[in-house]
Amino acid sequence: MEKLKRIEACPECQQEGAYFEEIKMKDPHISQEIKYVLHYIECGYCDYNGGLFASQKVALEHWNEKKKFKICPFCQSEEADLCNEAYNYFVICSDCKSKGPLADNENEAARKWNDREVGLYPDAHCC
Ligand SMILES: [Zn+2]
Ligand SMILES: [Zn+2]
Repeated sequence: MEKLKRIEACPECQQEGAYFEEIKMKDPHISQEIKYVLHYIECGYCDYNGGLFASQKVALEHWNEKKKFKICPFCQSEEADLCNEAYNYFVICSDCKSKGPLADNENEAARKWNDREVGLYPDAHCC
């Protein structure tokens, strides 16, 4: 069996120590019988969970993927960094220096960058 990769820090609160959980789904008609098992990863600090998946491997891939920034909507670069100016946090593209929406904290900035529709976010600008 393939060895699982490490569980990265929580994409929501950035704490280490998230763990695997599973839910046993029972067949509603035959209440004793376990129909299938769904896996997810849960953060012990903020209770964030990465969503339900059919295997630990897929759950982990999705969890670890969450930490990454999506590609830049202007230049499609995959490299971006979190920055802050005074009390505003934002994600900035490492290549074209486009800024994502401003936020009050790092997590929010990352979420706003990742949640936007490509090419479509209100206070983004390209310099
Ligand atoms: Zn967390
Ligand atoms: Zn860019």
